[in-house]
Amino acid sequence: MHEGKKKGVLFVFSGPSGVGKGTLTQMLFNEFDGQLAYSVSATTRPPRPGEVNGRDYFFITRQEFEQRLENNSFLEHAQFAGNDYGTPRDYVTNLLDQGVNVLLEIEVQGALQVRKSMPQSVSVFILPPSFEELEHRLRGRGTESEEKIEKRLETARKEIAYAPTYDYQIVNGSDIGAAYAQLRNIFLEKTQASTAAPVA
Ligand code: 5GP
Repeated sequence: MHEGKKKGVLFVFSGPSGVGKGTLTQMLFNEFDGQLAYSVSATTRPPRPGEVNGRDYFFITRQEFEQRLENNSFLEHAQFAGNDYGTPRDYVTNLLDQGVNVLLEIEVQGALQVRKSMPQSVSVFILPPSFEELEHRLRGRGTESEEKIEKRLETARKEIAYAPTYDYQIVNGSDIGAAYAQLRNIFLEKTQASTAAPVA
């Protein structure tokens, strides 16, 4: 039998590449250290400079990815810009069962799968103030070829169309503090009831 422990809250964050999702997520982890776990995904994409295996992603081969698919090891999986991405099922479900809140930072197709299989999850879509601004930010990052940037922009347009289907939409404009305040409120609202008594 269950010990009656409350389950953790599963947060699903999406938003186009370059929208500042990672920065907002990092701010949340900095403030709520120990109250939220990040699910590190597996991907067949090669690491970008500075990315660390096991921290940013588990960088695996296409063959390994297919093996995990066969073993039903992914809670969700999707292709994005020609690469495969997947969320480790056991890692996430074990933490939720232990009462730990978990955050997934995933694209829209995978998010749809999670939102369907775990309807109690809380979904948040991070939007750019405008498409032009997104393009500007993406080019400014300077880590990818023109062809890849074009592909990401095209994908971004398609992704943004899904924003209204999420529980919450946050515009990350010129004031990241304002966007973070909204995110923080959502986090507090959804986790307060399921966490232990607050520290005085
Ligand atoms: P990037 O290659 O820029 O790190 O990520 C590309 C996209 O894939 C981003 O939208 C990111 O949120 C998403 N992504 C990362 N991990 C996963 C995952 O496990 N599943 C899905 N569906 N998307 C993911």
